[in-house]
Amino acid sequence: MQKIDVVVIGAGASGLMCAIEAGKRGRKVMVIDHANKAGKKILMSGGGRCNFTNYQVDAENFISQNSHFCKSALSRFSQWDFLAMIDQYQIPFHERSHGQLFCDDSAKNILDMLLAECKKINVDIQLNCTINIIKKISDKEFHLKTDKDNIQCQSVVVATGGLSIPKMGATAYGYQIAEQFDINVLPVCAALVPFTLQPDDKERYSALSGIAVPCEVSNQRQSFKENVLFTHRGLSGPAILQISSYWKAGELVQVNFLPELDVRQMLLEKRNNKVKMQLKTILAEYLPKRLVDVLIQQKLLISSLQDLSNKDLTEVVKNIENWQIKPNGTEGYRTAEVTLGGVDCSEISSKTMQSLTVPGLFFVGEVLDVTGWLGGYNFQWAWASGWCAGQYV
Ligand SMILES: Cc1cc2nc3c(=O)[nH]c(=O)nc-3n(C[C@H](O)[C@H](O)[C@H](O)COP(=O)(O)OP(=O)(O)OC[C@H]3O[C@@H](n4cnc5c(N)ncnc54)[C@H](O)[C@@H]3O)c2cc1C
Repeated sequence: MQKIDVVVIGAGASGLMCAIEAGKRGRKVMVIDHANKAGKKILMSGGGRCNFTNYQVDAENFISQNSHFCKSALSRFSQWDFLAMIDQYQIPFHERSHGQLFCDDSAKNILDMLLAECKKINVDIQLNCTINIIKKISDKEFHLKTDKDNIQCQSVVVATGGLSIPKMGATAYGYQIAEQFDINVLPVCAALVPFTLQPDDKERYSALSGIAVPCEVSNQRQSFKENVLFTHRGLSGPAILQISSYWKAGELVQVNFLPELDVRQMLLEKRNNKVKMQLKTILAEYLPKRLVDVLIQQKLLISSLQDLSNKDLTEVVKNIENWQIKPNGTEGYRTAEVTLGGVDCSEISSKTMQSLTVPGLFFVGEVLDVTGWLGGYNFQWAWASGWCAGQYV
């Protein structure tokens, strides 16, 4: 029987951060992961460059049934604290749109930094290791049985992440541990995920595959200005991934293909100025021709602007500024970046990440019902929640 102070389950972003902080406090820490490599999602994130945080982090960038829960951790370990770590390791990075921060070279820089910190303080990382049993054996102790060992520890940190990309080692184990200890788990679903289209729409819009357009995508709850990408499976691109986190099955999504332009006013001005061009020539100045061909009736497109009635203009404007689409569904966990829902935050201390009912049991990162927007927010939540738990385990 090995005696350890803290066992962290999951060698991902939040688990490694928690292990580092606990180790710095002199705690004997073991990180257990069933995968053959630590931090696989870090390596694949941000197209291999890891969008590790954002210059602008606010509770509004997160979705949770308990919208206040994330505030404390995010303020105690902020984006500036993570940037200070990056600075110590002289990791080169750059800012992209909306304050998103990416590595210049590779996401591996981030994982190497975390593993170097773990090494400094002798965190024991056990890979290819399956936990078979977790039991609470007294007020202050847990017993874990793995396929390698029997372990007794004071704190267990569940850092098993969400369900996205099962190929990378994602499992529902964190939710099962919560349920085993009677901690509520809220329904989960794939988020930051492309939409699939209804069969008819799929056929209709297949000609647009590969086109990306800066748009405003909205539903009743949220709206995002970013690119929409038409794919051979449906709709993707940052604006679609963002709205997918706010979408419920069966709902419509609205797309404004020219959010910076008042299309009616532009067309009326040209009509008043006696512009005689065909509508399609005018619209080609603003939008890809293939898109215009699919959005607007041919009869209108080949008409001269002078021949279009006000009713025709209303139809044109509606199709450009308020295109409505009812997705068939999402691509699911196979391609989703994150999981919406998870361990109910009302059962967890926002200060320590410890269960309010099971002393010594902590939950950090994506396994909790805290889901960030696209833009480095999910990692910032992993760093912040892992850091907080690391102060108390
Ligand atoms: C393709 C992709 C790109 C992404 N890009 C970004 C980005 O650029 N910026 C951003 O902020 N977020 C991004 N994300 C989201 C981000 O990766 C996650 O939110 C973040 O990694 C969550 O950290 P975590 O520690 O909670 O979980 P993870 O990092 O997923 O770690 C969980 C760990 O637990 C282990 N585990 C799971 N089940 C078990 C088990 N039964 N036993 C033992 N170990 C187990 C896993 O193997 C894994 O190592 C991306 C996600 C994906 C899928």
